[in-house]
Amino acid sequence: MPNRNQSFAALILRAKDSPSGDRIVTLLSAEEGIVDAFVFGGARSSLRSAASPFVYATAFLYVDPVKHYRKLSDLAILETFSGLRETYPRLWSASVIAELVIRTSGCGGEYAEVLDLSLRALKLLSDADERLAELTLLSYLWKSLGVMGLQPDPGTCSSCGRPLSGMRFSAAHEGFVCDACDGEGAPMSPWERRCLAAFNEEGLEACVRLAGEARGQDAASTASLKGVIYYLAQKAAEGTLATLAAE
Ligand SMILES: [Zn+2]
Repeated sequence: MPNRNQSFAALILRAKDSPSGDRIVTLLSAEEGIVDAFVFGGARSSLRSAASPFVYATAFLYVDPVKHYRKLSDLAILETFSGLRETYPRLWSASVIAELVIRTSGCGGEYAEVLDLSLRALKLLSDADERLAELTLLSYLWKSLGVMGLQPDPGTCSSCGRPLSGMRFSAAHEGFVCDACDGEGAPMSPWERRCLAAFNEEGLEACVRLAGEARGQDAASTASLKGVIYYLAQKAAEGTLATLAAE
């Protein structure tokens, strides 16, 4: 007889209430991937209030072998990332991350890797100012594209194959193209190319240094880069991400 009780460390990505009033949480774990679990108990139940998005905890579940549902029995909190709720840019960025993970089924099933990346992003976001939140989200999305094998090469023109001199994105070529080749978007500024190089070569934590550098300069817009990365993330999710549309 299979063991009906499970426990594993999980990040809560989403909590929603079913039409019948039950709460359903969506969990991301290295071991079990993305799973939904019912949380029973009224609105004042302590388990129900603990089972909120962006809480990282050891989740204890009961698996009903007949009805094929999971019930959350308990949570032992490991980290709450409570700072996320203090500002809109932090919470919004975290919400984009959660939606992307759900919509791409954990970046195509790379659960341990995407969990680690998500936890590191939430840690950075939980005390980030607006600039750091923006860079952390962009870096996270870029790295997720890498996990999914959907990251365009930032060093080579996807049209002529030469090293990139100028750099603009071309949807037709599904990558970056040089000045000599046709691209549709605005060219990447030197600052955007610096950011992209850091996202590509360094950990998420490099965003702290980049945000510090950005504060000292005027031309630190990431509008073009943001457009490209949002486009690619939504392509990976095979449709519009509601959180990105709401920015
Ligand atoms: Zn070219």
